[in-house]
Amino acid sequence: MSKRRGLLIILSSPSGAGKSTLARRLRDWDPTIVFSVSATTRAPRPGEVDGTDYRFTSEAEFKTMVAEGQMLEHAHVFGNFYGSPMGPVQDAIEDGKDVLFDIDWQGAQQIANSALQDHVLSIFLLPPSISELHRRLVDRAQDDAATIARRMSKSWDEISHWDSYDYVLVNDDLDATEARLQTIVSATRLRRSQQPGMLDHVRALQTQFEDLT
Ligand code: ADP
Ligand code: 5GP
Repeated sequence: MSKRRGLLIILSSPSGAGKSTLARRLRDWDPTIVFSVSATTRAPRPGEVDGTDYRFTSEAEFKTMVAEGQMLEHAHVFGNFYGSPMGPVQDAIEDGKDVLFDIDWQGAQQIANSALQDHVLSIFLLPPSISELHRRLVDRAQDDAATIARRMSKSWDEISHWDSYDYVLVNDDLDATEARLQTIVSATRLRRSQQPGMLDHVRALQTQFEDLT
């Protein structure tokens, strides 16, 4: 049977709700999932690796990539540019691999309206409470107080788009959220539209059935 179609798995949430953590866990669970390394003009955080977490670019380089049509989607978030390069996504899809995106609602909307829309599985993560969201941003200890305040003030913008996603999860207990995410991905991989080889199988069954009668 021919290989299945790859999914575009999109994770969005307000900053601090747990996207990066769950994206990492999803890739540990299934290392065949390709992470879409976004290009960004924001500065690297401590520990972030260029080419692995993000492709850190200058604004001029970013704008050239957009002008040359290299981006599947792009957006301006918290004062910086972010975008998903198209090339690696196309390669992965053609290879029957799933691609994981950690992007905001604007990017999710652009991909949902693109030629790849039939491949999309979108999941929105909500925090258990706004105070817990703040606590997670502070505990992450990677942004200064002003940056955290800016991210908190924008969190409602992001949350207000929760209802345009296929699935919504409250990321309360991390292990439980991870398990639900695995269930969603496993089930979506079995969607009829993700199994183009099934038509041949059904045709073969039909031939066998007709030979019987
Ligand atoms: P995002 O990528 O959405 O900005 P992160 O994945 O960086 O968020 O998570 C923010 C912080 O919250 C990190 O320190 C992470 O370890 C922590 N965190 C994530 N999920 C949970 C959870 N379910 N319970 C408690 N802490 C969590
Ligand atoms: P951070 O700076 O915390 O890594 O990311 C800030 C926000 O930008 C998060 O909501 C994250 O999901 C989003 N983001 C990261 N990469 C991209 C991207 O390529 N495109 C879009 N649209 N958003 C992105």
